[in-house]
Amino acid sequence: MSKPYADREVWFLTGSQDLYGEETLRQVAEQSQEVARLLDASDAVPAHVVWKPVLKDSASIRRAMLEANGRDDVLGVITWMHTFSPAKMWIAGLDALAKPLLHLHTQANVELPWDTIDFDFMNLNQAAHGDREYAYSLTRLGVSRATVVGHASNPAVAARVGAWVRAAAGWAATHELRLVRFGDNMRNVAVTEGDKTEAEHVFGVSVNTWGVNDLVAAIAAVSDEDVDALVAEYEAAYDVVPELRKGAARHDSLRYAARQEIALRGFLAERGATAFTTNFEDLGELEQLPGLAVQRLMADGFGFGAEGDWKTAVLVRAAKVMGAGLPGGASLMEDYTYDLTPGAEVILGAHMLEICPSLTTSRPRVEIHPLGIGGKDDPVRMVFDADPGVGVVVSLADMRDRFRLTANVVDLVEHPDLPHLPVARAVWKPRPDFTTSAEAWLTAGAAHHTVMTTNVPVDTWEMFADMARTELLVIDETTTRRGFKDQVRANQAYFRLARGL
Ligand code: MN
Repeated sequence: MSKPYADREVWFLTGSQDLYGEETLRQVAEQSQEVARLLDASDAVPAHVVWKPVLKDSASIRRAMLEANGRDDVLGVITWMHTFSPAKMWIAGLDALAKPLLHLHTQANVELPWDTIDFDFMNLNQAAHGDREYAYSLTRLGVSRATVVGHASNPAVAARVGAWVRAAAGWAATHELRLVRFGDNMRNVAVTEGDKTEAEHVFGVSVNTWGVNDLVAAIAAVSDEDVDALVAEYEAAYDVVPELRKGAARHDSLRYAARQEIALRGFLAERGATAFTTNFEDLGELEQLPGLAVQRLMADGFGFGAEGDWKTAVLVRAAKVMGAGLPGGASLMEDYTYDLTPGAEVILGAHMLEICPSLTTSRPRVEIHPLGIGGKDDPVRMVFDADPGVGVVVSLADMRDRFRLTANVVDLVEHPDLPHLPVARAVWKPRPDFTTSAEAWLTAGAAHHTVMTTNVPVDTWEMFADMARTELLVIDETTTRRGFKDQVRANQAYFRLARGL
C-alpha cells in the first residue's frame, strides 16, 4: 500500500553514548534500524520512517534537530534511547527542535532471554531506564510530545505512531495554510470571530480577505467549454434532478454552479490557498451562494467555513489532511435541531448548503431550492444522508487569552427519511449521553460550527492540540457533568500559567 504522505518523512533518532564500545554501538545501530524498519513497513504509519545514525553527543543531536527543522518534508522526529543516553546532551537539541516530537519507549526484544541473559545484554538493552532519564529532561524542559510505549511489532504501537504522524501532518498543513476569506464574518455573530494574528502564531495559518467581486470577475472569465465538461461530470457522478438537467428549465443554475466551482478552484490555486470562507451577507455580484462548489471543494480536501468562520475552515482543512487515505471524511457541521424524546435524544446537524459528501458513501442528489436568506437566486446543492458510524465534532473558539478546542465523540445513526429537508444532513447521538454532552459543550463555550470527522479519532486531535500547545476539552464516554466543569476551571488556570504571567 502506498503511504498517504508518501512525500513526507519522520526521522527516527536513536540515543546512546560512547561509553559502551564499538561492538555495542554497532548492535544499537542495527537494532534501531530494525525498529525504524518495522514502523516504516506498517500500513498504519502513513509517512516514511527514516532511520538516522545513532546520536552520541550534544553537538550531533543539536545538528540533527536543526536539519529536521530545515526540511519542509520532515513532519516530525521520533526519539528512542536504546541504551543510556545522558540527557543533558539532549538539552541543546530539544531547545532547537521546532517540529513535533514523539518519544518511543521501546526495546529491541519482545521477550527476555531468561536462560542466557548476562550483563552484556543488560548493557545493550537498557531503554527501560535510558528513556526515563531522557523523559526527565523532556518534562523538565517542558517539551510537548507524544509518548508511545511498547514493541514496534505490536499493532497498537504502530497505530499510535500512525496517529501521531497524522497529527503532525495536520500540524504541518496548518503551518502551510493560506486561507482566503470572501468578505468578513456574519454580522453580530460572536463565536466566529477570532484573533487572526494569534492564530498565525499558534497554528501557522495565514488568514486574509479578498473582495468577493474578485471572485465574480473570475467567474465571468470561465469558458463555456469548461462549464460543459464539468456539468457532464455532475450528471455522471450524481443524481441530478430533472429540472437542472441539460435542456431543462433551470439548467442555467447548474451551469452557474459549475462556473463558481471552476473559478473558485482557480482563485485558490493562484494564491496557494487550501481553505476559504464565504458569507451569505456579502455576496457582491454573485448570483447564488456557492453550495455545490463548496461541497465539491471540501470533498477534494479544501477547508471551508460558512459565515466567514475561518477558524472552522482551519479545522476542516486539518481534518482533511489528518484523515488522508482513510475511509470516512470531514465536513463543516452545525448543530441545528434536536429530537428530545427522553432517552432517545438525537442531534440533527446540517448547514444551509455546505456539508461535504465525504461523510456519505451514497450517491448524492443535486437539487435546487430557495435559500430564504441572502436575497439571491436559488442555489444548487448536493443532498444526502451522512453514513452511520463513529465520529468526532471539534470546535475552535477564541477565549480572548487563548484558543480552546472542544471535541465530542458521537455516534452517527440511521434516521427516518427527511423528504422535505433540502440540504445534506447528519444525525447523531453524542457521548456519553445527550444531556451530559450538551451541558458540557455549553459549559465549554464551544461553537455552533464544528468540523465533523468520521476518520480522525479524538486521540489524533489530542496529539494535534498538544503540538499546537492548545487546550482541548474532550467530551466522550468517560465525561461526567461535575468532572467536566472542574476540568474547565482547572484548564482556565493552567493555560494562563503555562503561558507565563
Ligand atoms: Mn452557520
